[in-house]
Amino acid sequence: MGEVVSWLEAAYPPRLAEEWDRVGLSVGDPDAAVDHVLLTVDVTDAVVDEAVALGAQLIVAHHPLLLRGVHAVRVDQPKGRVVTRLIRAGIAVFSAHTNADAAADGVADALANVLALTDRRPLDDHGQGRVGTLPAPLPARAVAQALAEGVPTTVAGVKLGGDPDRVVATVGVVGGAGDSMLDAARAAGVDCYVTGDLRHHPAQDFLAHADAPVLIDVPHWAAEWLWLPAAERTLQMAAQTAGRAVTSTISRINTDPWVLRLG
Ligand SMILES: [Zn+2]
Repeated sequence: MGEVVSWLEAAYPPRLAEEWDRVGLSVGDPDAAVDHVLLTVDVTDAVVDEAVALGAQLIVAHHPLLLRGVHAVRVDQPKGRVVTRLIRAGIAVFSAHTNADAAADGVADALANVLALTDRRPLDDHGQGRVGTLPAPLPARAVAQALAEGVPTTVAGVKLGGDPDRVVATVGVVGGAGDSMLDAARAAGVDCYVTGDLRHHPAQDFLAHADAPVLIDVPHWAAEWLWLPAAERTLQMAAQTAGRAVTSTISRINTDPWVLRLG
């Protein structure tokens, strides 16, 4: 376990995580043996079922299982149930969250890869997000279409705010929930800002600015799922370098909370 954790922490250094974040090994025995790793965005009951069925000893997740203060671990409460099941099954959990957002070949780069952005730089001075240039300018609706085709399908789908026909050359991307970086996107002077989990008022206020980029909302889970194949490659390369055999599986369970859209 400790060796696998050291590979992951080399790729996604904990020092890149935001101060409020809780990354690294959160459940399990650092000295246990690992020969099968399951990668997922979220650790849900269904993902625990999958890990048990696979015989995985480690779940690598993007979202921390226990981000906020925990005062009870009870099987009749959702988090407590998941933690208890994990411990009973001998399955550990490692999370790389804002450190994986910021790291090279992390979440933001995985989203930037869908649009083949070049000349990349972080969107903010903490290394979060990416700003880059499209291989050729495209109408905003074509950028949204490329994203819709490049991320896993979700009920909410990809949404666009602003002028769909605006020609886009430069794009800012933040996987997950990026409304805290709306001002940074506008300050970066990009033609289009791609993120997720945008609420009505922040989106409306942002688009009312004369210099506002086009806004594209990619569902939180779908954007972050893109990181899993990259994380698996990183894990497998490190295992190969160390001369270890580790099997890995990317979870295909859709942990997006929305399952139905009407109208
Ligand atoms: Zn997220």
